[in-house]
Amino acid sequence: MPDAWAPDRATVSFWERQLPARTRRAPLPGDARVDVCIVGGGFTGLWAAYYLASAAPGLRIMVVDARYCGYGASGRNGGWASNFIAGSRRTYAAAAGREATIALQREMDASVAEIVRVADTERIDADIVTGGVLTVARWRSQWDRLQEQVEAAEAWGEQDLELLNADELSRRLRVSDALGGSWSPHCARIDPAKLVRGLADRVESLGVQVHEETPVTGVGEHLVETTHGRIRAEHIVVATEGFLARMHGHRRRTLPMNSSMIVTDRLPDRVWDGIGWAGAELLGDAAHVYFYAQRTADDRIALGGRGNPYRYGSRVDTDGRTPRSTVASLRAQLVDCFPALRDVGVADAWSGVLGVPRDWCSSVVQNTSTGVITAGGYVGHGVTAANLAGRTIRDLVLGADTELLRMPWVGHRVRSWEPEPLRWLGVHGMYAAYRAADGWERRTGRGTSLLAAAANRVAGR
Ligand SMILES: Cc1cc2nc3c(=O)[nH]c(=O)nc-3n(C[C@H](O)[C@H](O)[C@H](O)COP(=O)(O)OP(=O)(O)OC[C@H]3O[C@@H](n4cnc5c(N)ncnc54)[C@H](O)[C@@H]3O)c2cc1C
Repeated sequence: MPDAWAPDRATVSFWERQLPARTRRAPLPGDARVDVCIVGGGFTGLWAAYYLASAAPGLRIMVVDARYCGYGASGRNGGWASNFIAGSRRTYAAAAGREATIALQREMDASVAEIVRVADTERIDADIVTGGVLTVARWRSQWDRLQEQVEAAEAWGEQDLELLNADELSRRLRVSDALGGSWSPHCARIDPAKLVRGLADRVESLGVQVHEETPVTGVGEHLVETTHGRIRAEHIVVATEGFLARMHGHRRRTLPMNSSMIVTDRLPDRVWDGIGWAGAELLGDAAHVYFYAQRTADDRIALGGRGNPYRYGSRVDTDGRTPRSTVASLRAQLVDCFPALRDVGVADAWSGVLGVPRDWCSSVVQNTSTGVITAGGYVGHGVTAANLAGRTIRDLVLGADTELLRMPWVGHRVRSWEPEPLRWLGVHGMYAAYRAADGWERRTGRGTSLLAAAANRVAGR
């Protein structure tokens, strides 16, 4: 029996496998000259193309992707369009000030609504429901941390967060042993593959040239080199996120972190009667190695977590293949939360990579002399951040003087990751410490373990 869960079709996630198969767009036919060349057809690249083409219809814009639009994390993720900001707010504030960091939170809140608005206006059906996000606490340390997090979040400008006791939580959703939770309205459930596919179609209809199966081999001053020709461009947007480490000269810039998901068979009404979850809230927990989940539009549970977090030497992707051991551990997590699902079937499993900068903070950085803008490093919170990045890139390209350009992540510089084997040891050590801390805290019923506090230093928390 193979040791990896690997569907035999050329698709990378359950979401994609639900959609009709489609023909790839033609690769770049040869050398080209455009105003803006966008490398990567995920949410970052496509939102940038969408806002640029909408604001400046005369601009010649091209998107090139090594595989196809939605091949990366954008077509594989957990479908949380949340207002979460990657990294520590203190890090952004140290560079850009407290007010700018609070403003970033407000922009993230508004960006959730902006995604919903555009999907609505452009008639992109992506099963979107704005039901907010629930974070559950299942043992004492989680509950303590959750209360601290809610207080801290409010102090940093996060609005409308509610702390729920066990009774209030159970009126929304019944997770085994839950002591309580928090709820924020600023989160929408999406089907990521439907959104990214719909966005790519819309961008193309706005006149953007989209070429798939066109790997970029190098990016230089106003020049993009691909396997199919050279593209000269006034502006270049590098939007390859977790794949950035694969590009020449960027191996230590962003760490490609793995995340894996499973999805159950459809659950019958009698199971939902026991669980609740009528509001389509996104669901996570306050563990150090946390899970993330959604109730899908067709009544399954899709649940994700870290699996094997990092492959030696920043190796990035195996077309979504997922080790059986990871599928088993995600299933165990699901049944631990919902014991009634002990016999449920796993219908599908997949994995993907996301980008982690050394300080765990996202950035949008423009080099005016080379014309290159790089955006990403969202650390697993990129669905909404990519929308904000897209509008920020629009303003950078058009030279507009807007509030978005004053956000603390614009121009945010980060040092490189350590060389191997330090990088591998650091990340695996951090996750081993977090797992041990979760186990100890649950067993003992005590507060946050010192091990977790040490791991937080690697994680920049
Ligand atoms: C399993 C999983 C679950 C996640 N869940 C969530 C979630 O619920 N909520 C959330 O906010 N975030 C989540 N994330 C993170 C989120 O999906 C990403 O942050 C976001 O999609 C990044 O979008 P992007 O466009 O920057 O990158 P990607 O979507 O990764 O797109 C990059 C594109 O670049 C292309 N590319 C790469 N190299 C080259 C090259 N050399 N030449 C040309 N093209 C190239 C790729 O083919 C790809 O299409 C998750 C990630 C994973 C993997």
